[in-house]
Amino acid sequence: MSVSQLSRLFPDPDALTQRMLETTVRLSDINSGSWNRDGIASVQSLLAELFEPLSDSYEARQGADISRMDGSGDEVLFTPNPIQIFRARPQAPLQLVMTGHSDTVFPRESHFQTCHTDGDLLCGPGTADMKGGLVVLAEALRWLDQSPWRDQFGFTVIISPDEETGSLSSAPVLMELARGAHYGMTYEPALPDGTLAGARKGSGNFTLTARGLSTHAGRNFFDGRNAVMAIAQAALRFSELTSEEQGITVNIGRIQGGGAVNVVPDFCQCRFNIRVDTPQQMRVLEGSLQQIIREVSAASGCELHLHGGFNRPPKPMTPAQQSMFELLRECGAELGLDIQWRATGGCCEGNNLAAAGLVNIDTLGVRGAKIHTDQEYTCIDSFAERAALSILLIQKLIQRHGES
Ligand SMILES: [Zn+2]
Repeated sequence: MSVSQLSRLFPDPDALTQRMLETTVRLSDINSGSWNRDGIASVQSLLAELFEPLSDSYEARQGADISRMDGSGDEVLFTPNPIQIFRARPQAPLQLVMTGHSDTVFPRESHFQTCHTDGDLLCGPGTADMKGGLVVLAEALRWLDQSPWRDQFGFTVIISPDEETGSLSSAPVLMELARGAHYGMTYEPALPDGTLAGARKGSGNFTLTARGLSTHAGRNFFDGRNAVMAIAQAALRFSELTSEEQGITVNIGRIQGGGAVNVVPDFCQCRFNIRVDTPQQMRVLEGSLQQIIREVSAASGCELHLHGGFNRPPKPMTPAQQSMFELLRECGAELGLDIQWRATGGCCEGNNLAAAGLVNIDTLGVRGAKIHTDQEYTCIDSFAERAALSILLIQKLIQRHGES
């Protein structure tokens, strides 16, 4: 994109880029791994500084506790930080729900903690996924706030603290607030070449725990009930539910259990992820899992317990989705950008918005890559570019909504 196209919107694009970069660095230099409540709280207060001046109201809403299975098969509860909700102009004709997350995948103990620039790239934890994206969103809203477009749209910005662990606490809030809006905009990163995510698969995380009976492998082997074997059998049958043709994958991610080889093991646990193309497949697979569990349980004599479920429903490319993408393509053309999108197996809160019936584009953040690794980076020249893209998209949504 040329500087002249940008300077139509921004008088000094370089100064703007510098300011956006500095804000992103401030946010990314604070560790906010999903389980780091103090770190997330610090990031949340910086985000409140960014979004409160643009909003009429700010609510920190406590979501439900997150239930997980620990390595011993016991359920543990985690109380996440509240969900941040910023609202403006709820009476305006067009209502947008805009979402992002304050957490990252990097725990407090990670060696990847601070940012540095490397040529045209800003490297650092969460710069692309998605603190840079939140800065893009704030900048677009700030521009519109000082423009005649201001009163023609209202927004609800929802920033969740638990996206990287599946938005288990935020999902009901996303669902509720999405229902009152016309369009959704989420600020996950686009690929380095600008490609956005189109259709997305649905996803669920599960833990299967087996409890058997421990005996001596030599003296009374046949009295034992082997939990490792029960999990092995169940895991094999689960993985056979994979169908490349139907777009179903079952990934057995981790199996833990057993000890000394002369003891029949009485405990084993398996963690797995399932991805699907349609909501119908989610229901069928849930039934298949239960069926397998009943059969393996009966055959092995072990007690099997399944925890977890589908947390992100599929996000298909519907005609309404297609038409929002076409609108974004027009915005891109005005900026000299060729906007492309493609289907992905990855999931995000755009899935949750879509499940609530809200048409949305969910990769409106910075261009970047290698997210979830210590090589994560953001293309510095995408800060102003992506803010411009959001500004134009909101203008076109206002126009389209006025015509409908
Ligand atoms: Zn993300």
